[in-house]
Amino acid sequence: MLNCTTKKSNIEDVLKAVHVLENIYDVVRIVDPVQNRVIYLETKNIPLTYSEESCYGFWARNHFCENCISLRSVTELDTFVKFEVINERIYMITASPVEHKDGHYAIEMLNDITDKSILESIVGRDKKDFTSYVLKFNDALVRDELTQLFNRRYINERLPVEIFQSLTMKKKTTLIMVDIDEFKKINDQHGHIAGDMILQEFAKLLLKDLPSTDDWVARYGGEEFLFCLHDSDTIEAMKAAEHIRIMIENNQFTIPNGIVNITCSLGVCTASGEMNMQEWIDAADRNLYLAKANGGNKVI
Ligand code: GH3
Ligand code: MG
Ligand code: MG
Repeated sequence: MLNCTTKKSNIEDVLKAVHVLENIYDVVRIVDPVQNRVIYLETKNIPLTYSEESCYGFWARNHFCENCISLRSVTELDTFVKFEVINERIYMITASPVEHKDGHYAIEMLNDITDKSILESIVGRDKKDFTSYVLKFNDALVRDELTQLFNRRYINERLPVEIFQSLTMKKKTTLIMVDIDEFKKINDQHGHIAGDMILQEFAKLLLKDLPSTDDWVARYGGEEFLFCLHDSDTIEAMKAAEHIRIMIENNQFTIPNGIVNITCSLGVCTASGEMNMQEWIDAADRNLYLAKANGGNKVI
């Protein structure tokens, strides 16, 4: 089955290169992971639920895969492997980047490994255990261990997609960079364990009022966090940021020897046409810096 959603001539070189792979893998497909589109699909007799509309429809999902290795391969220009489970079958997926004059694509090569000994050699578990192992493993790759928020890798992979979507769908997407005020002092006064507990509670509070399911929050680094809000212009995002600022200011954080109050500063920036990912983050960061320079516990 050949499914070309772009002009065939544009991917001819790539198709020639992948032809040889079709004998080795159960499914070979080329996807555009930013637009979530399948450019080309070659599949043997595999009982997969396949939707022409999106690459994730292949996995009977109605939402992009959070641990998308095609996005990762295009972002990092390297090859990645992961496992997925569908209809009680286990697939090993390899994604490699393909550079083309029209943009960056990924070749995904899938093998059904359910009945192959490779499974035991990987985890030495039975099929049922492996399913939950795969789900946990895929999730862990994009999560920060301490807070369980998304991690920096997730930010790097998702922001180019957010920029693309805000440009093509003319949507307002806003970043809010959040930084805890004088956190070093908290660590110095109460110890690192108390600091960790505060970060965990802080993360839970950030997650509490996410306006929509597409919105997300990630740990950018140490005591810095990044919100991505959809369909929100600067004024709406400023309100959301102010709501966070007040919620944090009013919360009593539990630590081993009592409770402690903290504040945070927030820098807001709505994506505008010509910004790339780093410029967008930097713009939010500059506003955060201004909030700090104005005494902290502020939204700019
Ligand atoms: P500012 O108001 O300017 O943001 O001051 P600050 O003290 O919050 O910022 P600074 O960058 O000087 O210090 C950040 C501190 O955050 C230092 C570091 O020890 C602490 N930190 C970073 N990651 C962790 C972590 O995972 N656990 C704990 N407990 N502390 C952390
Ligand atoms: Mg800080
Ligand atoms: Mg900081």
